[in-house]
Amino acid sequence: MPRILLAGFMQEISTFNPVECHQDYFKILRGDEIVTDNRGQNTEFGGALQVLESSDSEIVPTWFAGGDAAGPLAHADFVRMAGEFVESLKPHAGKIDGAYIRLHGSMGTPEELDPEGFLLQEAQKVLGDDVPIVISLDLHGVLTGRMMEHADAVVSYHTYPHVDFVDTGSRAAKLLLRIVNDGVKPVGVRVRIPTLVRGNELITETGLFGQQIRYAQELQQNPSILSAGFLICNPFTDVPELCSQAFVYADADAELAEAGALKMANDFWPNRSKMQSGLIGLEDAVRQAAGMAGPVALTDAADATSSGASGNSNAIAGEMVRQDYPHTVLAPICEPALAAQAHEAGVGARITTSWGGDLDPRYTPIDMEFEVISLSDAPFDLETWVFKQNPGKTAVLKSDNYTIVVTEVPVMHVDRSLFLVNGLDPKDFHSTVVKSPHCEPQFYDEWVEANLNVDAPGATSANLPSLGHTICARPMYPMEPETTFSPEPEHFSRTG
Ligand SMILES: [Zn+2]
Repeated sequence: MPRILLAGFMQEISTFNPVECHQDYFKILRGDEIVTDNRGQNTEFGGALQVLESSDSEIVPTWFAGGDAAGPLAHADFVRMAGEFVESLKPHAGKIDGAYIRLHGSMGTPEELDPEGFLLQEAQKVLGDDVPIVISLDLHGVLTGRMMEHADAVVSYHTYPHVDFVDTGSRAAKLLLRIVNDGVKPVGVRVRIPTLVRGNELITETGLFGQQIRYAQELQQNPSILSAGFLICNPFTDVPELCSQAFVYADADAELAEAGALKMANDFWPNRSKMQSGLIGLEDAVRQAAGMAGPVALTDAADATSSGASGNSNAIAGEMVRQDYPHTVLAPICEPALAAQAHEAGVGARITTSWGGDLDPRYTPIDMEFEVISLSDAPFDLETWVFKQNPGKTAVLKSDNYTIVVTEVPVMHVDRSLFLVNGLDPKDFHSTVVKSPHCEPQFYDEWVEANLNVDAPGATSANLPSLGHTICARPMYPMEPETTFSPEPEHFSRTG
């Protein structure tokens, strides 16, 4: 009976968010908690457990940390948690047959630009060179050479928006069992493509990027292909190997793997300019919205907390104030000092404040006098996703036509839940600021007159050249529009 170890460490960060995050952004599961928390759930471990529990395997769960998207992880916190990860493996050295390590791929600390590569290198040191390791990644992950050197094979999501968590974990577990039980020998090839991409064409069901995914799935029909995928990376994680990548693992057949990875990469490259976001300038967007009957959604993907931004932007509201916007506006902001000020003042009080830019100095504070309409601090559920949100101190503030919802801690804006739990319905406002690149259609698109995708400044702006990458390899499209591509397949084989 093969003994299969389960461990992991997942987060996605934006380098351009100036607010570092800490261990409290993570939920940590130890030992059997990994099994009880994931069994039957829509997660990679949920999928892996289905496979392992229905095969003749003994499951050895050790340590897993899953964190919300945020700014870079404070290095000392990473070191402490990485230490826990490594310690959790040590009692099992020499006693397991394989390991499945669940990662995202876009973690980062100010000092460690390849945290996942570091974790896998340390895992190999503890578990030994002969214990196979299979990893799973988000398709926004940044795969590195070090990760491929210290893992036997990689599997990745095949969907955006992501709906194949279970399938991905199940593929990882099946592949690991083929290595352990059948002795398949993965050889991997990746092809790095010097481009960052964003926008609607990346939606795998309807967009151009779906072609690469369908090809990867077709490759996987061949029993000699062990895994195939395409990583579009998280363009906000500025690390040396940030880029788009095709990868294929084949059973002891480097040529087969290389041919698949090359085709995926070569087919992707000509579409790079179509895989960018169409954005409307900030001034223009506010002027257009002002002329509409409404309701209007103003999408501020540049401050998307679900992608790692601070949530501290007031850029759209600031432009509305400047243009003397005539309509009612609903906008969220994460601003701990203002949330505390409102809680101290109490419901019904009037407070004079400068709001926005408290956490992120790229925003200019706006002077306003607000009435405190309501206060809360309870955690809440999202409308459809299973992620509990903990906003900390929360306040609804009103100043003339502006209503803002202030939280102490960033929460996700992938739906309307923050507004609804605070007694506010976006349908009652002319304009709502939505800090998420895409929401399910029923939340806004189905009932608004327009959803304007605004080119506002922020740590997760889809205007990629505006971000100011300093670490990733250059030239890189679209920062350098003339970037050329000559494919260089890189070969990896851990088992030799
Ligand atoms: Zn993702």
